[in-house]
Amino acid sequence: MKAPDFAYERADTLGHALARLAELKDRARILAGGQSLVPTLNLRLQSPEVILDIGRISELRGIRVEGSAIRIGALTRHADLLTSDLLALSCPLLPMAAHHIAHPAIRNRGTIGGSIALGDPAAELPACIVALDAKIVAMSTAGERRIAARSFYTGVYSNVLAPTELIVAVEIPFLKSGERDGFLELSRREGDYAMIGVAARGALADGKFSSLSLAYFSAGDRPLLAPAATRALTGKALDAATLDTAVGALAGELPEHKDLQADPAVRRHLAGVLLRRLVTQMMAA
Ligand SMILES: Cc1cc2nc3c(=O)[nH]c(=O)nc-3n(C[C@H](O)[C@H](O)[C@H](O)COP(=O)(O)OP(=O)(O)OC[C@H]3O[C@@H](n4cnc5c(N)ncnc54)[C@H](O)[C@@H]3O)c2cc1C
Repeated sequence: MKAPDFAYERADTLGHALARLAELKDRARILAGGQSLVPTLNLRLQSPEVILDIGRISELRGIRVEGSAIRIGALTRHADLLTSDLLALSCPLLPMAAHHIAHPAIRNRGTIGGSIALGDPAAELPACIVALDAKIVAMSTAGERRIAARSFYTGVYSNVLAPTELIVAVEIPFLKSGERDGFLELSRREGDYAMIGVAARGALADGKFSSLSLAYFSAGDRPLLAPAATRALTGKALDAATLDTAVGALAGELPEHKDLQADPAVRRHLAGVLLRRLVTQMMAA
């Protein structure tokens, strides 16, 4: 199919983009990497009046240290996450996750801001920012606000952004001394969306987690924290009994989530398999 008719506008500056969003509100859709927007247009799942291309706003791209966080511009591409020395050292979770996003052609165009805004429940990066307790920086002509990733998503493909707001960056906490990141997913073929996946950051000392954050994706209508499994693993010797208890706790807290990828029983089983592997991965890191 072909996309419905729309007007195309390119914003060359952030101010220009925000001014047009303020005027157009939900009559506009932002075009970043286009890897999700363009297919949905071609399938006629949406028909905006105006496509506002922000792809050339250079100030929205790049990864840098800002204060106590790593600031990643919204137009930073998935491929940039894979090659950043700063992330490799200070937030290995993002390169670990980006490696699993689709294929190189899509990673060369798709952006972190687009992935976060879209909020596909099976996407890797939304789960990472929830696990990391990151902040999303959103701007409109009214100013800037920081939104906790953990309260950003409201359901499938939905979030708290106003139609006049643009994600300009995401702020990620540094890996602290003693902390490790972990990431695993299961998909039918390499590059496919995950049947189930988990992103994690935790501090390990003397073979025990002193802190842990687990965010599952492709497990519900949005990235899901797993507080019961986290409690079962924290402060305990990571032996077979602890792992069994944690897997049981996880099975009790994951929702019934059914889609074309897997039914709830398969998903729950695979989530437990991933949890056991994740602990091994993080202990070995
Ligand atoms: C074949 C295929 C396989 C894929 N596999 C995966 C996968 O395994 N895992 C995965 O995570 N993704 C996958 N994707 C999606 C890909 O990662 C997209 O790049 C990403 O989801 C959206 O990023 P984008 O920059 O392309 O956004 P766009 O497609 O340009 O935009 C997506 C949506 O976000 C909005 N938006 C974009 N930028 C902003 C912003 N700065 N502020 C506010 N709103 C904004 C747009 O208006 C639009 O509604 C796949 C895509 C394809 C085509």
